[in-house]
Amino acid sequence: ASSTIPKTMTGILVEKTGGPEVLQYKTDLAVPTPKEGEILVKNEYTGINFIDTYFRTGLYPSPKPEILGREASGIVVDVGPGESYSIKKGDRVVYLGTSSYAEYTATPAAKASIVPEQISSQVAAAALLQGLTALTLVRESYAVKKGDWILVHAAAGGVGGWLCQLLRAIGARVIGTASTQAKRDLAKSLGAEFLIDYTTEDLVARVKEITGGQGVAAVFDGVGKSTFDADLELLARKGSLVSFGNASGAVPPFAIARLSAKNITLLRPTLFNYIATREEFDHYVQELFGFIIKDKLSVGIHETYPLKDVARAQIDLEARKTTGKLLLQP
Ligand code: NDP
Repeated sequence: ASSTIPKTMTGILVEKTGGPEVLQYKTDLAVPTPKEGEILVKNEYTGINFIDTYFRTGLYPSPKPEILGREASGIVVDVGPGESYSIKKGDRVVYLGTSSYAEYTATPAAKASIVPEQISSQVAAAALLQGLTALTLVRESYAVKKGDWILVHAAAGGVGGWLCQLLRAIGARVIGTASTQAKRDLAKSLGAEFLIDYTTEDLVARVKEITGGQGVAAVFDGVGKSTFDADLELLARKGSLVSFGNASGAVPPFAIARLSAKNITLLRPTLFNYIATREEFDHYVQELFGFIIKDKLSVGIHETYPLKDVARAQIDLEARKTTGKLLLQP
């Protein structure tokens, strides 16, 4: 079967950091060979995530040249040498890894999961990274309880859309922020009870008003720099500020003494540290698949871009033009 695997492939290579112009569409990249513990996947759908833009700009350091991309769904076409693999050639999988903006990716089997037949490859690729992020945030960063007031920033975005739905399923009371009416309508349909236009309204005053003066038990903030100070103001006493991203820029250095005003808990989590072991990964993937199959949770797909249009996709994402998930089709 390995005779059907070509020697070269198309993919998106970044040789130096910069704007969308550094995303190079290549047609002659070497198809990788899976090492021990790896599987070779022919990608069907690659998920685009905001983190891909951080590796492109250099906000997060990574070795260059680099094929971008942190997740995809596809078909296993080869397995590496050594140990026996629970995933076999021909299996349809979804995985977290690197270098997924390409036709083929060699990726750790320990971060791949067979996709149940009720879930399409498109939904699997749209769900994995952002769905797991939202799930681990509400289970571990702040263990949300029924009835809690929770603020979700960028509630119509990829992670934001999952957060709204998971929080509704838990029975929390969700306040969402978004920059346009269309985005606020979408977030409402996904489970946010109150919506705030954080580009024009007084965020702190509105949250206080909605919560009867008490503030929220937790804020899930992937926006970063532009919302951080308001978050400290709109939290209730003993509230949790879960800062998990930098869509507006990185939060500057912070004096921890500011937390004492209300005994605030401040966290800066990453998904990868919640799913480091095979058991943790499997646990959360199965829980996420359960939400998709039983509770019909899913985020809308903003657009499935051809691989060669990746620059347009990242421009759209960074320009706040998107809702839900952006996919690439290698
Ligand atoms: P989104 O689909 O949420 O897109 C980002 C959204 O942020 C925009 O649509 C926009 O919504 C909002 N936003 C606010 N200010 C800005 C700005 N200045 N520039 C651009 N966007 C802005 O992206 P993702 O779901 O992929 O990621 C959301 C956040 O979560 C990112 O910060 C990402 O890095 C982080 N993340 C962190 C993970 C972790 O492990 N810690 C894992 C996954 C994601 P609006 O127009 O409504 O303001």
